[in-house]
Amino acid sequence: MMQRLGKNNGAYFGESIDVIPLLSEVRELGTRHGWAVDVIPAGNELKILALRRTVPRPAQRIYISAGIHGDEPAGPLAVRELLARNNWPDCADIWICPCLNPTGFQLNKRESAHGADLNRDYRHLRTAEIQGHVRWLEAQPSFDFCLCLHEDWEAHGFYVYELNPQSRPSLAEHMVAAVRPECPIDHSTLIDGREARDGIIRPHIEPTQRPDWPEAFYLITHKTPLSYTLEAPSDFPLPIRINALVAGVTSAIQQACTAVPLKI
Ligand SMILES: [Zn+2]
Repeated sequence: MMQRLGKNNGAYFGESIDVIPLLSEVRELGTRHGWAVDVIPAGNELKILALRRTVPRPAQRIYISAGIHGDEPAGPLAVRELLARNNWPDCADIWICPCLNPTGFQLNKRESAHGADLNRDYRHLRTAEIQGHVRWLEAQPSFDFCLCLHEDWEAHGFYVYELNPQSRPSLAEHMVAAVRPECPIDHSTLIDGREARDGIIRPHIEPTQRPDWPEAFYLITHKTPLSYTLEAPSDFPLPIRINALVAGVTSAIQQACTAVPLKI
């Protein structure tokens, strides 16, 4: 069994990414493969990239985000890999925000350059990044499900948070099964202080009772009935974590498209 590297104690000390060239490459790949590109103004000179792919008869609308924590490089790298593979099904319109915290990546730290954890700002919208992001989300239709790509340096393997208040058919087991050949699964019964089972956390959360919202709370409240936060274990080698996120995203989209008849 693959072991943890053991180098990430108290924080993430692994690989960082050169975010500006990476985002140019992501944009270039998107344009080459027919994605519409949105550039979201986020204060000062900062811009946040968003990509949209539409098909003639979409059965699903799917939203994917990555890179809201600047010390979690596998998310934006997984987006680049997915765009390079360009192996999307014809059943879904897809929206992607490849990197919500570009200034954090320049410092290889969780927060933005201004010291804000952007993934706690979706209730009060104090930062220019999240103000811009929410304004952009408000201009998009609702999504059938959302996938937020993250990493966790404390994790013993991949795991996923599910928010599914309407008890829709779950995609979580499919994702974990698809990730298992690529990356260890965290089988802890307690992850991040929450009860977990076979790499899946299904927290009972009432967002209105919580003062600081992560992106997933905003999405489940305003944009979608089904939200997943995918967590790759960042104390493992980077290519494994990228493969884990790519496998999770790919399997969720495939499962959703096979389970739902086409809307005509
Ligand atoms: Zn994160």
